[in-house]
Amino acid sequence: MRRSVFIKTFGCQMNAVDSARMLSLLSAAEYRSAPSLEEADLVLLNTCSIREKADQKIFSELGKLRRWKQRREGRLVGVGGCLAQQAGETLRERAPHVDIVFGTHNIARLPELVRKARERNPSVAVEMGGDTGHWEVAPYLPDGTSSAMVTIMQGCDNFCAYCIVPLVRGPEVSRPAADILGETRTLADRGVREVVLLGQNVNSYGKKEREIPFHELLRRISAIEGIARIRFITSHPRDLDERTIGLFSEIGALCPHVHLPLQSGSDRVLSAMGRGYTRSEYLSKVDALRSARPGIRFSSDFIVGFPGETEEDFLATLDVMEAVRFDSSFSFRFSPRPGTRAADMGNPVDPGISGERLRRLQSLQDRHSRQQLSGMAGKTVEVLVEGESARGDGRLCGRTPCNKMVNFVPAGGEGPLRNILVTSAGAHSLVGEERG
Ligand code: SAM
Ligand code: SF4
Repeated sequence: MRRSVFIKTFGCQMNAVDSARMLSLLSAAEYRSAPSLEEADLVLLNTCSIREKADQKIFSELGKLRRWKQRREGRLVGVGGCLAQQAGETLRERAPHVDIVFGTHNIARLPELVRKARERNPSVAVEMGGDTGHWEVAPYLPDGTSSAMVTIMQGCDNFCAYCIVPLVRGPEVSRPAADILGETRTLADRGVREVVLLGQNVNSYGKKEREIPFHELLRRISAIEGIARIRFITSHPRDLDERTIGLFSEIGALCPHVHLPLQSGSDRVLSAMGRGYTRSEYLSKVDALRSARPGIRFSSDFIVGFPGETEEDFLATLDVMEAVRFDSSFSFRFSPRPGTRAADMGNPVDPGISGERLRRLQSLQDRHSRQQLSGMAGKTVEVLVEGESARGDGRLCGRTPCNKMVNFVPAGGEGPLRNILVTSAGAHSLVGEERG
């Protein structure tokens, strides 16, 4: 009888792709994907540890899985991803019902670890650099997928003062360009029209390995037949160079939307964070991108309440938000992470104050997001169809080149790219009708 696995993914797109890799590996080892936790024989939590809250969420999930496991003989629990990498052995001490702990560099070993667990041998596999087969495992891709993520690098060398990623994902390693291009061609042959290139700092792609530079990688991907749209995350504002910016005026397939995490608008805070750019350097890159591609839109990440952040620093962040008018952003309260420089900086911001700053920042962002969306009513946009709308009301959904989600009434059009008239705007998405 074929066993089944249920994978629950926390955190960023890196984890989403890694989960698809896990599913590929386990499909080859005779596991199918379980439609629900209750039906599964094996559950894998692919974890995140970027903020303390993420850790807490996972331990509470593990509490529930202890009872899940007791309900049926032979059930197994595995924990992978960043928290597994960070906690290692100690994870099994806190949660002894976990059968497999596998770190970010041990995904390719999953079939072997699962087999051992079935023979009642629990494992903790968190060695860094041991995952030689990582890139070779193609992420599972359901038929009919129009947009796919392609990992171009792993890890990070930046060590921003607040960030645990370099500690749990290891040093930056770029994937050979030939493999990235090969995977993209295979995706295009399967009907994928959009690729999202993934890395913690895509602009430093290939520098250590003396691979082709990022802008050349983009150029070669744009030449692959069938690829109509290219996106990339995450761009580091320090490393986004003129050649890459210039491509926005040359390559139509490069989507007119860039996620460019600012973190803070204060030069003093940016320097304490070790980000390597100033507010004015950031704004010059935004201007250069706007000149290269008029109408280009931006999104960002922000941290409020970084150690020592004053009201004046915070107001500088709101000021940059007013200047750029981001379409959307992810914003967080600073969370001290073990082993990072910022965890020992002292000078903490009172939680009441950082909470209030977060609310102010998010309400400004909401205002900008709504204004941007409502300005699109009455316009016709090209949408790449991703599937049926979540409401199951016969509508389809997809994204505009600027990454706006549109739910629309189809009118019998064919193919994944459709022209849609935007009829109204919500807080985070658009509503439309297909043009006949
Ligand atoms: N590599 C990307 C970059 O440099 O922008 C971001 C990677 S991180 C997974 C995503 C976001 O989490 C960061 O941009 C930052 O805003 C946030 N973040 C990271 N560490 C944090 C911390 N200790 N406390 C609060 N937010 C944090
Ligand atoms: Fe973390 Fe900075 Fe690396 Fe992004 S660039 S993953 S924020 S250390």
